[in-house]
Amino acid sequence: RSSNTHSRHKPIVLTIAGSDSGGGAGIQADIKAISATGGYACSVITALTAQNTRGVSAVHPVPQEMIRAQLEAVFGDLQVTAVKVGMLGDSATIGTVAEVLRRYRPAHLVVDPVMVSANGDMLLAEDAVNSLRQELLPLADVITPNLPEAAALIGARLPATLSGVESLFEGLGNLDCAAVLLKGGFLQQESRSPDWLLSGGEVRCFDTPRVITANTHGTGCTLSAALACYLGQGLALEMAVSTAKHYIDKAILAGSNLRIGQGRGPVEH
Ligand code: PLP
Repeated sequence: RSSNTHSRHKPIVLTIAGSDSGGGAGIQADIKAISATGGYACSVITALTAQNTRGVSAVHPVPQEMIRAQLEAVFGDLQVTAVKVGMLGDSATIGTVAEVLRRYRPAHLVVDPVMVSANGDMLLAEDAVNSLRQELLPLADVITPNLPEAAALIGARLPATLSGVESLFEGLGNLDCAAVLLKGGFLQQESRSPDWLLSGGEVRCFDTPRVITANTHGTGCTLSAALACYLGQGLALEMAVSTAKHYIDKAILAGSNLRIGQGRGPVEH
């Protein structure tokens, strides 16, 4: 936590994630969300994706030396208050990022355990889930899995009902991380959009009206980046979650009638 008044009001927030050439998800969504929620955004790019609203056509991993060089350049100069981690791609990158985070220990760390895009494209090697669990989760203040990611993290089946979701709580509570924000969007409920915060043995549901739209590309990236930014501004976890959820709801609503690309369009910041 910086004593510098300027950075307390406008925290420096680092996103460590993949680039989306279509501008809707990944680093691009994070920078927009961090800027719109009052932070100064900087970025470490872990992978390039050739991507648009219809899907990912190619992924090019960034070499480990270059990921490390970006991390050292940012942490060696900027007073980073909060970090959001998104797409990492493989175990080697998870190891590099975890090692640097252990050394610099930012005050707030949000880990979005990105695995597969909503269009079904693989964004994390299958054998890397274990590294994520062992190396990165213990460092996080909160992780933000969607239902498939949560199921993969605890080796459970993807739930299809609310009671199925509740059956994940115990396993998620046993993960080695401080808190889990489980996102319920995949349930495709008609009128509600519930997310659950599991922290200190308690579960709190954040339930808002669902916006019906195909334009949901980058929602997960946006939520976790906004959450990191609000934590960086000093909000306590529950308040930061509820404020970030309010932000993503507004962003989905604002983008719901835009025509950007021919596939699942992005949210509007
Ligand atoms: N591309 C990148 C680089 C991402 O980090 C992510 C998600 O985290 C996605 C694509 C997937 O976004 P969505 O599932 O919202 O389409």
